[in-house]
Amino acid sequence: MQILDGKLTSEQIKAEIAEQVSAIRARGGKIPHLAAILVGNDGASETYVNNKVLACERVGFKSTLVRMDDSVSEAELLAKVDELNCNDEIDGFIVQVPLPKHIDEIKVTLAIDPEKDVDGFSPTNVGKMVLGLPTFISATPNGIMELLRRYNIDTVGKHCVVVGRSNIVGTPMSLLMSRNTNPGNSTVTMVHSRTHNMAEICRSADILIVAIGKANFVTPDMVKDGAVVIDVGVTRLPDVTRPSGFRLAGDVDFEAVKDKCSFITPVPGGVGPMTIASLLQNTLKAQDLRKLQEKSCSNN
Ligand code: NAP
Repeated sequence: MQILDGKLTSEQIKAEIAEQVSAIRARGGKIPHLAAILVGNDGASETYVNNKVLACERVGFKSTLVRMDDSVSEAELLAKVDELNCNDEIDGFIVQVPLPKHIDEIKVTLAIDPEKDVDGFSPTNVGKMVLGLPTFISATPNGIMELLRRYNIDTVGKHCVVVGRSNIVGTPMSLLMSRNTNPGNSTVTMVHSRTHNMAEICRSADILIVAIGKANFVTPDMVKDGAVVIDVGVTRLPDVTRPSGFRLAGDVDFEAVKDKCSFITPVPGGVGPMTIASLLQNTLKAQDLRKLQEKSCSNN
């Protein structure tokens, strides 16, 4: 069994990005600038956003954190989104989810300018991804593809089972793995909470990607010998022995399953850091994508 080390790989990617930022600075170009909107004080969201801001600093990007109270109205949040859309200094921005219940997440996603949607959640960018056009691919699936690429995992003709069908992980993941790319070219089955014979289908997977948010859901009877297992899930479990009072658990029972796998991602230290690296990659390419868009508009 080999660990797919997302922490190490993300550090390599960040070092590569930092070099590119130095080159941009040396030629007097515009330094990439990522902004994040954080609504409320949810502990996990704060951690995620802080990690993203820190990562920006590490690679030499500019970053802006916009904090809003959880009592903020939907109209106020949409006005802030519009302000960032119109601010030429900002190359890309994210709105950290989940949002408070009184705010419609879909409305917010639709309000973000697709050219600044570095999370890759807007319908325009999802549509481009499906068609294989240059775009922002949502950070978590893109990070997983990068991890598979950098570990030279053979995905061609393999049976890939994706557990979970969310818009931000399961659905784009299954599309990416089925495309004629490398990694990709897998035969994909996507399963969800209404699937019958879950264990049997998972057991037939050469590559098992799990994104459901249920701690330790995948047990050894669900894993084929030699499978590649990618664990996206992050759940905080109470743990009085830790100063924080919790520990993180993935969707896969790592200790029970690891010896059956050829490769497996740990939690933490697997998919999470790759998501952040991928967000940075998207921000770096925002200016290039904009130029490509302007060029194709002027050619029409
Ligand atoms: P989500 O929107 O809640 O979607 C969960 C999906 O899992 C749904 O499609 C649901 O099926 C399916 N599901 C739930 N229980 C199931 C079961 N018992 N059997 C089969 N399928 C089941 O979650 P998400 O946003 O995709 O996130 C999933 C997990 O990944 C969470 O723990 C989240 O924190 C984590 N995550 C981590 C990162 C990272 O960077 N590490 C990034 C994003 C998400 P239905 O559609 O039928 O309800």
